[in-house]
Amino acid sequence: MDQKLYDQIISNFFTCDPEAITGIFREFMLALQAEGPLPPSPHMAQNYETAQANPEIHLLPGNLKDARDAVFPFFWGTDSWSSPLHLENVKGPANYASLVGGLACLLKNPNLCTDTYSHRSNELEVKAVTALANLLFYHTDDPWGVFTMGGTISNLYGAKIGIERVLPGAMHTGLGGAKVAGIVSEAAHYSNRSVAGWLGMGTAQLHSIPTDEAMSMRLDLLAEKLEALHGEGIRVAFVTATFGTTDGSGIDDVAGIRKIVDDFAARHGVPAPQLHADAAVGWVLSFLSEYDLGKNPLTFSPELLALVERAQRYAKGLRVADSITIDFHKMGWGHYPGSAFLVNRRQDLRYLSRTVEETPYFAEADGRRDPALFTLECSRPALGPYTVMASLNGIGLTGWQLLVARALELSQQLKLRLERIENCKVLNLDALGPSVLWWVLPKGRDAKEIHRQALGGRLTPECFARYAGEIRRLYEKRERGMDPAQDARLSFTTSVGYLPHGLCLPAWKAVFFNPRTGTEVIDRLVESVEELL
Ligand SMILES: *Cc1c(COP(=O)(O)O)cnc(C)c1O
Repeated sequence: MDQKLYDQIISNFFTCDPEAITGIFREFMLALQAEGPLPPSPHMAQNYETAQANPEIHLLPGNLKDARDAVFPFFWGTDSWSSPLHLENVKGPANYASLVGGLACLLKNPNLCTDTYSHRSNELEVKAVTALANLLFYHTDDPWGVFTMGGTISNLYGAKIGIERVLPGAMHTGLGGAKVAGIVSEAAHYSNRSVAGWLGMGTAQLHSIPTDEAMSMRLDLLAEKLEALHGEGIRVAFVTATFGTTDGSGIDDVAGIRKIVDDFAARHGVPAPQLHADAAVGWVLSFLSEYDLGKNPLTFSPELLALVERAQRYAKGLRVADSITIDFHKMGWGHYPGSAFLVNRRQDLRYLSRTVEETPYFAEADGRRDPALFTLECSRPALGPYTVMASLNGIGLTGWQLLVARALELSQQLKLRLERIENCKVLNLDALGPSVLWWVLPKGRDAKEIHRQALGGRLTPECFARYAGEIRRLYEKRERGMDPAQDARLSFTTSVGYLPHGLCLPAWKAVFFNPRTGTEVIDRLVESVEELL
């Protein structure tokens, strides 16, 4: 064996050289800074043409700079979404407290599967999920949770517990032909459909309840659906409430759903479906729960206080959920993946235990130390706990209140300004969150009247399609005329999730996900809409 070459590899790649590493890290940081003043568009065109043609691996051992060079073009060619002009979707810049946590995690590289491989990092996960659970369930007795690969997987945990509730032992025996269903709203995230498919229920067994104009699930129709499914001999495993829809920030009434599923279960003598709250985006409203509206220590405006009061009211609903999905990589401005699945009562995790027959309850010590007993994953990164605790305690509760309140304030400002324009109609005026959905119609059209007609069922699908086409064309016109250095980047949704009389309502979309976005961006955005008309 070539001992010299071997030693060189050990020295370059398995020996920590702080100077070499921080030097390279500094170079990446400088590139990031250089990118700061550039418009939020890709700085380097993609090259999918030959991405697969040359899957190269260097022949000879190099050094850390070769590692740098292997990724740099892709690093430079990737937008970090730090520009305040990004309003397209629920994606924001990562905060730097999260970076500090993330770097610490990467240096130790723990594996959260069991505490042998993670030591105090596992303890940090317990701390992080407890902090989040206390915030969301609010002083709950015995919460628990785990970090997962993303909101989809956190939703999957909730659905899986539901299946085990209504079909005990399904983990081992399978569904065995039993008819099992789940319920969401029509504005729910598509991940719930993926979950129904992947869990073997079948996507056809996921039922969508229409929403009202505020994009919240219609509770009267939920009650009817539960009865109808029960009447057909179908077991309802879960109802997943959406707490903050991805497009429109619609919020399902979790407490109202609680009452309906409990009454349903009592009436028919069946287990209550798992009440899971998909709060991937909306969970941050809970930061405002304890804000003192009377003392108003952060000097919020009266308009903003009204929004905070509503946030407090909605967030109370989460307290009665059985389990919750939160995505810290969304409005926590943390790094991916930062999703957590939280349960209100730790004993509910027994449904997921690999040895559920032998240990009906978790042996306390095992559950704490060995999440691998009930997690879907075996190896599990600790990035979630590290980035979340660093962010929570770096920014502090008051800091979070400011950040969340600001996003609510800006989205409300844009809503009100657009609503005042004759040719515009805001579609989610009554929802509470960072997103704004609206129509822009050509000059001379009364957007509010067209909206009333659509909601009243007074427009034929053909007639509505013409308006929908106009809304799209104007959006494309703005895109073509955009000045990338000053015009905010928006997106377009073909259906906001509320389907009056079956109509898919398209909309322009802006999401206030970047804390650096200010009112000047709104001014210019409104101007660019008016210029089109
Ligand atoms: C983003 C989102 C998800 C999916 O989460 P990922 O982390 O992207 O997997 C689920 N539900 C809602 C409401 C979301 O907004």
